[in-house]
Formats: sequence, C-alpha cells, structure tokens
Amino acid sequence: MKIFNSAARFSATSVFCLVIMCAAHGQTVTKVVDHGPDGEKLTFVVLGDGYAAGDQTKFAQDVNRLLVNGVFGHDFYKDNFPAFNMYRVDLVSHESGVSSPSDSKDTALKVIYSGDWSRCWLEESRDTDQLIVDATVGVKKIDFVLIIANEAGYGGCQRGGRLYITAGDDWDVVAHEYGHGIAGLYDEYSVSGAYSTPPINVKNCSTVTSRTGVSWAKLIASTTPVPSDKAKGLDPNQTVGIFTGCDYALSGIYRPVSDCRMKSNTPHFCPVCLGLMNRAVKPYLPTPTGGRAAAANPGSPTKYVNLVVRMSLTGQPQILRATQLDGRVVPTTNSIPAYIFAFSKNEKPSFVQYLPDSPFVVRGFVDPRHPEKGESLSQSDSATVIVNVPETDISSAMQNLGLQVYKVEPDAASMFKEQRATDVGSLLNALIKNKAIALQSELPKSKMGDALRAVQP
Ligand SMILES: [Zn+2]
Repeated sequence: MKIFNSAARFSATSVFCLVIMCAAHGQTVTKVVDHGPDGEKLTFVVLGDGYAAGDQTKFAQDVNRLLVNGVFGHDFYKDNFPAFNMYRVDLVSHESGVSSPSDSKDTALKVIYSGDWSRCWLEESRDTDQLIVDATVGVKKIDFVLIIANEAGYGGCQRGGRLYITAGDDWDVVAHEYGHGIAGLYDEYSVSGAYSTPPINVKNCSTVTSRTGVSWAKLIASTTPVPSDKAKGLDPNQTVGIFTGCDYALSGIYRPVSDCRMKSNTPHFCPVCLGLMNRAVKPYLPTPTGGRAAAANPGSPTKYVNLVVRMSLTGQPQILRATQLDGRVVPTTNSIPAYIFAFSKNEKPSFVQYLPDSPFVVRGFVDPRHPEKGESLSQSDSATVIVNVPETDISSAMQNLGLQVYKVEPDAASMFKEQRATDVGSLLNALIKNKAIALQSELPKSKMGDALRAVQP
C-alpha cells in the first residue's frame, strides 16, 4: 500500500490537452491513494473548483480531511481501503471561491454554489460537463468523479457518477452518498406519505413485513420482535428487525434498523447495508494470488477500454472519450443494477457492466435546518457516466463493438444474482423474457466505430 509517496506527477501540457485547448488552466495529477492497477480498483478522481494558485495547499488539505482521513479513515471505507485508488487533480482557478447565482467568477469548472436545497445546492454551468471531461484526461480509468467547491457553506449534489460537495462539508455526508454510488443503497429515512410504487424486497428497503420473507431475514435474530418499532433495548444501529419507513415514505415500506448511515449519515452502515457494500467492493480487494481481475480471467488479453458516455433519456448514447488501458478490469456485476450496459462483439453479447444507481437521478444533500424534507430528488434528462469494457482494445472495439443500454425495472431487482461474464447472452435473454429489463438506448456496431474514431486524440 502506497499513500502520498507514489505521486505519479504528470503535467497537463500533454499533446491531448493542447488539442482540446484546456491549457488555460494548469493541472497536475497526483495519485494520492494507490493500491494497485486502476482496472482492479474502484478509482476516484477528485477535482477542485475555485482554488486559485494561492489555494492549492488548501485544496490538498481539503482532500485529505474529507477523503483520505475522512471517508477512507472510518469504518467500512477504512476496512476496505485496499479496494480503492484515488487521484487528485490540481486545477488552478483564476479566482478564489466559486460563482453564486448573482456573482460570476472565473473558475476552472464554472461550478455555481446556490446554497439552496431546492436547487441541489451546487449547479453546473453550461460548460461544466465538458470542463470536467477535459480536466480528467490525465486520469485514464475512473469510476467516480468528486468535485470540491472552495466554498465554506454547506451543500452537495450528486449527478450520476459525479458528486459535488463543498469544502465546508463533513466527511460522513460523503460516506452516505457513496452508499448510493457504490451499492445503489436506498435512503432509509422517511419524509412523507405512504409508499405507493411497485412492491420491492431487495437491498435495504422492503415492502415485505414477514420476518422470514423480508430480504434481510437471515440477519433478524429470533429474539428480536417484528415489527420492531416499539421493541425496547435494541441497538439502534446494529439490531436488525423490521422498522416502519424507508425510501422517503412514512409507511408501507420498511428498513432493517432504527438508524443507519443511509438514514442519518453519522452512524455506521447497518448490517444489511454493510453486507451489500462488502459485496459490491469484494471483487476489488486483493487476493493471496493477486488481483481479483487477474484471477477471474486467467490467460485473457490484458487490455481494456474506458469509456466516458453521455446518456440521454430519449436519444442514443454519445461517446465523449475512449481510452485504451493495459491491465485487467473487474466487471461491475456485484451489485443490483439500476441500468445495465451490455457490450456485444460482432453482435454477440459479451460483457455487462452494472450501474448500481440511476445516472439520471439528481440528489441534493439533506438540509440540516429542514431534515424533514430529506434529500432533494429530481431527474435530469442527460447524464455522463463512465464504463469499462474488459478484454478489448480500441482498434478491435472500432470494428466489432456494440452497446445496448437497459433500464432495470424497480420491482425486478431481486432477479439479479452474481453472474459471470460468460453468461451474458443467456442472462440478458432471461431478464428480457421476464420483463426485468427494457432496452433504453443503443449504439449499434455500425455507429460505434465512427463514435470511437471521433474521440481519438
Ligand atoms: Zn442501512
């Protein structure tokens, strides 16, 4: 394990960077958490906005306080630290602090801090999406992008795989948000009303009230009363039962414990959430014989392609960036997905990559002054996501790769079990037949080649 000392520094004045004309903002990339090849790890990249030349030390300190010592210094994240890599990209903004709706500043990513729950606290300006794509050219394999705004006020907003936070936040809010990002966990708190959408019995919320039928039945001790709301003497974070209220609703849906990180940030993940998080990161943990990815694909080619894809609710996926990397990549099929990226080679389904959380959901942090309102939820009609295509290279991808994006029906998530990549065709057929998934959009082989050629440096 190497932290801080590997510092693979490379300047942003690369040819690629000049081609896309991002030289206006200098950038330095530092691998601040390094547990091995990026393809075998969940890899975070952290960007700062509103950090001027004189604020660069503060940015490094904010990254250490919130992430390296904050999120990764505690409980689940600390226990599973070897599953993660993290890059810090130092972007020099011309002005210190970020824009507000009434005061425009010249910053590297043009993030706007509204400080308003109903506006998701932090907003992107028109150029932000492309500026982030440009700022991360020095980091090849990315699973999650985190943007810290140099702003002391509270707030945070998750847009797909991107999380916007402020320098004024606490690490535990970030730890909560990655419960959504890594394992697609539900929020366990209640805001209003009775649950009305389709019955669910997966992950950390369930509409099932039977102690033997609920999805976390195995974790309920025989001595714990069910329903558990009025039981006395239970550990609020560790005693698993069936408690009323979950996924924003006050009734008709149930959560596993009284209080969990997915309910109020500060507690640890409850045993049910912890199990789901452990399952999601397990393939990224080292094994005695080497990386999981290497063990899973003995003798297979050692290249993969990292794709930055802009998805839309109505149109075709758009490829923003495609990078070929050496090494192996862990297929992300260890969680219950909201979307499935299915890649075909010569029209034969070959790989699936799961998105645990819907990329179209825009999720604002809970307002501490009005916790009863919960997170601010809205839906975006487009989202930028990052997916990895294992065992392929750019030139063969240009010739034979196709992509189909499937939306997973909310009541179908229980049909998912761990699947090996070799089962892809039969997995997809079974899920389609059972109406568990529906085709949302696609980029057939005939269009993928051109899309990949268009983004080559
Ligand atoms: Zn929980």
